[in-house]
Amino acid sequence: MTDVFIIGKGPAGISAALYTARAGMSTVVTGFSSGSLGKAGKIENYYGFAEPVSGQELFERGIRGAERLGVTVLGEEVFSVSYDGNFQILTDRGEHEAKALIIAAGSVRRAPDIPGLKEFEGAGVSYCAVCDAFFHRGNDVAVIGNGAYAVSEAEHLAGVVNSVMILTNGREMEAEVPEKISVKKEKIEKLQGDQLLSEVCFEDGTSVSVSGVFVAEGTAGSTDLGRKLGVVDPEGKWMIEKDGSTPVPGLFAAGDCTGGLLQISKAVCDGAEAGTAAVRYLRQRKKDEER
Ligand SMILES: Cc1cc2nc3c(=O)[nH]c(=O)nc-3n(C[C@H](O)[C@H](O)[C@H](O)COP(=O)(O)OP(=O)(O)OC[C@H]3O[C@@H](n4cnc5c(N)ncnc54)[C@H](O)[C@@H]3O)c2cc1C
Repeated sequence: MTDVFIIGKGPAGISAALYTARAGMSTVVTGFSSGSLGKAGKIENYYGFAEPVSGQELFERGIRGAERLGVTVLGEEVFSVSYDGNFQILTDRGEHEAKALIIAAGSVRRAPDIPGLKEFEGAGVSYCAVCDAFFHRGNDVAVIGNGAYAVSEAEHLAGVVNSVMILTNGREMEAEVPEKISVKKEKIEKLQGDQLLSEVCFEDGTSVSVSGVFVAEGTAGSTDLGRKLGVVDPEGKWMIEKDGSTPVPGLFAAGDCTGGLLQISKAVCDGAEAGTAAVRYLRQRKKDEER
């Protein structure tokens, strides 16, 4: 089992890894992309660069520095996380287990622009299958998305509800779908209902009756993962201390996902805080286990 698993290989995740690895903790970081840094052009407000540096170069330098210290850096996409005293991390390539988990997966939130989606949040529209599947047991539900994350959320729901349909909203599926889950590709016109969501209407005039719609566009973001562990409230606010710790022992968050100044310097500082807090947690846990 890994000491520390970090989701996100941007400035926050890599900064956290530098502190955990240098404290002797086995550390695995995964990120499926170069995140916000990869989109930034020239950076000229970060300490130590006399000339502007490209976001991509800073990203690559960060990873090389972490690898030099013995950090394992993966390219896996995380679908889900769970906790039973340790953390289980489900990715597109398998499962990992860790004693401590740092979520540093940036701030991108993907929600499609569909009339009714915002209005029915908390009244049928959900962003977390693990959190809300139980409310829909025995009912028919839909998942909006077209990738592997949507399939993973649909598979979780399929074990609880009567039926699950993936709605691609006009796109082709980009992942394989198990037989028990149906797919509808028409463009969505709107979500409707009375107090609670009851129907998805499509542009071709058809509709499906559902008690719930689960949004799973693109990849699971930091908020989605935090929700699965119960440390993000329904408004998307993290339950977090200054050092990145959360009410779940061994769980920390860092970087853009925690809000505030969305800049590299703040992400690096958050990572350092969360990394050192994770080391403190692991050392105390070891002492407690030895007693
Ligand atoms: C266009 C643009 C220009 C910018 N310019 C500047 C600038 O000039 N100066 C400055 O200080 N800041 C700038 N920023 C902001 C800066 O890039 C961010 O504040 C910083 O990168 C945040 O770091 P982070 O580690 O929190 O998140 P990110 O850098 O976004 O890293 C997130 C990581 O999480 C990974 N991830 C997400 N979800 C998953 C998942 N489910 N499974 C696995 N991995 C996952 C991503 O692949 C990525 O590796 C800019 C941002 C943008 C978009």
